[in-house]
Amino acid sequence: MTEQTATLPKDDVLLEVKGLKKYYPVRGGFIKRGVGTVKAVDGLDLFVKKGETLGLVGESGCGKTTAGRTILRLLEPTAGEIRFNDPKQGWVNVEQLDTKQLRAIRPNMQIIFQDPFSSLDPRMTVQRIVGEPLEINKLASGQELKDRVAELLRVVGMRPEYMSRYPHAFSGGQRQRLGIARALALNPKLIVCDEPVSALDVSIQAQVLNLLEDLQRDFNLTYIFVAHDLSVVEHISDRVAVMYVGRLVELAKTDDLYYTPQHPYSEALMAAVPKPDPRQRERPIKLPGEVASPVNPPTGCYFHPRCRYVQDICKTEVPPLKEVLPEHWSACHFAGELKLRGITETT
Ligand code: SF4
Repeated sequence: MTEQTATLPKDDVLLEVKGLKKYYPVRGGFIKRGVGTVKAVDGLDLFVKKGETLGLVGESGCGKTTAGRTILRLLEPTAGEIRFNDPKQGWVNVEQLDTKQLRAIRPNMQIIFQDPFSSLDPRMTVQRIVGEPLEINKLASGQELKDRVAELLRVVGMRPEYMSRYPHAFSGGQRQRLGIARALALNPKLIVCDEPVSALDVSIQAQVLNLLEDLQRDFNLTYIFVAHDLSVVEHISDRVAVMYVGRLVELAKTDDLYYTPQHPYSEALMAAVPKPDPRQRERPIKLPGEVASPVNPPTGCYFHPRCRYVQDICKTEVPPLKEVLPEHWSACHFAGELKLRGITETT
């Protein structure tokens, strides 16, 4: 049990991640020897409650996609714990499972990929794409498999007659529906939605988001929703985790994080959320410099070279993630003391 989940009933939690790290070696020179390490995820602590959507946000390269894939063990973690509350087996340490054990819990942990154009095999029919997880896990064959695929297509708003077609016959939105049908095939508990709407037109985005919300309600699904579009994340998430250079900097209920952020980086992100009403538009907060490199991050708080509230302590000491308000966690030495602005306040 992590500090974050200490006060929650154990059965309300589906996933706990503690100290998760995913490092990649950087090789250079003639003999390709190791010359450094990319710290894509660098000590992530978070939990996901049953039936909720946890948004995972941050700038490109902050490690959110790597974190989502490492949680599912599509990527091997370098260190840390991934504890999953499996409906049959109870709590399992996913990072310790061998291939056979992983296969046994895999049906409960699925992913929807970002790009509906490259994530579906163009040589496979819809029936094979959607039915493959059922075939691999020997859960259906023959007519039963066909019936199940037809049902899954109906569930995602597509016609069963499309079963014999190939992916190229569909639009981006329809392809993403096929990706969702495939992810649903094994009745999962947890789905990592990896930027599922960012490759789609805005009008189609709304349809796919509504579909994901309907499916969550109907099948009691839990989502980790990885995205960089803060408006989309605000719409769909119950809680939001903000990452910066591989680390979690803030975790809170969506409204709390958007309206009363407790970390200067979240404050800057909120100031950049577009507003339809020009009277509500705020001046964006200019962040000096570039996002820190995960190969050679700064000392202390990774955000300190860009932070307008920086003090000496920030340059040497890593700020711990602490609960500054009920269920509101921030990794800033001055969280709770700074008056930060959320998305509605104007300057
Ligand atoms: Fe800024 Fe210091 Fe807080 Fe980091 S710890 S966000 S540098 S005030």
